[in-house]
Amino acid sequence: MRALLLSEYKKLSVVEMPTPEIGDDEALVRVRACGICGSDIHGYDGSTGRRIPPLVMGHEAAGVIERVGQGVTDFTVGDRVSFDSTVSCGSCDFCRRGQVNLCDNRTVLGVSCGDYRRHGAFAEYVAVPSRILYKLPDSLPFERAALLEAVSIAVHAVNRHVPKPDDTCVVVGSGMIGVLLIQVLKATGGRNIVAIDVDPQKLALAQRLGATHTVNPNESDVPAAVRDITGGRGADVSFEVVGHGDTVSGAIRCLRKGGTVILVGNLSPRVELPLQEVVSREISVLGSCASSGEIPECIDMLARGVVDVDPIISLKASLDEAPELFARLYDGNRTLMKVIIQP
Ligand SMILES: [Zn+2]
Ligand SMILES: [Zn+2]
Repeated sequence: MRALLLSEYKKLSVVEMPTPEIGDDEALVRVRACGICGSDIHGYDGSTGRRIPPLVMGHEAAGVIERVGQGVTDFTVGDRVSFDSTVSCGSCDFCRRGQVNLCDNRTVLGVSCGDYRRHGAFAEYVAVPSRILYKLPDSLPFERAALLEAVSIAVHAVNRHVPKPDDTCVVVGSGMIGVLLIQVLKATGGRNIVAIDVDPQKLALAQRLGATHTVNPNESDVPAAVRDITGGRGADVSFEVVGHGDTVSGAIRCLRKGGTVILVGNLSPRVELPLQEVVSREISVLGSCASSGEIPECIDMLARGVVDVDPIISLKASLDEAPELFARLYDGNRTLMKVIIQP
């Protein structure tokens, strides 16, 4: 098969590789669409240590089942499918509780980090355990389905603390996950949604997709602006999808007493916390990682058009165009949001 191989850091090329063998509980998927994730870009130069070459990256994919192992009963050749990016073991304590994102033996497709190497979906074929596969309705195109992982991160974050219908919610960071969160929040209540970003174009998109208010921290003080919107009280819930010290502290400082912040972004490994505000105002601080069981709900949201991912898809390209696109994304091209590779 043809595959996009990271043979050394910052060196990608399309090569011939053996088609993956499948185990009894696995399916071979003919990949039709696979998104380039920010984590692939960060891993590409070795800085995260999670894309050790040689590796086929890619974990945001959809395609058609080509072959199934002997033990697979729920899926058959020809099924249109997507899959979780996290390969959970299905048998540890966390998996049995349904918290597959916290699996003790979790691996991720398209990652090699020293403990394991698992080739991903920037290739014609990928082998996937059937327990992480999900069937797609015919009406859902593969390139939209490739955004399921991103949608599931937003849905999981909302499920960590479901806001009441009239709660004011703040979304700090209006990139891809931010605008997905805004759509999910809009779909589940008629509430005020305040989008925060320094980029006016991102704020314009956030507004188009459901934000009722936008605040640019370069122009106004975020906590003061949010207090204005909420009659002096502060927001009930905030979602932080950047992961820098200033944005985390902004997400906390814009809350009312007893409010909740859900931390999704994690660019910085450590940030300073406004401790006395958290303690004296009884703020709940929750982390949110990947998703656990939300993918069927996300398929339904995409199929019904409740969440629109088309404005997020900047470009669709072939496998041969991928090395150049990786280089452009790595050089910090800010006009590209999600790039979908169609192997
Ligand atoms: Zn991803
Ligand atoms: Zn497990």
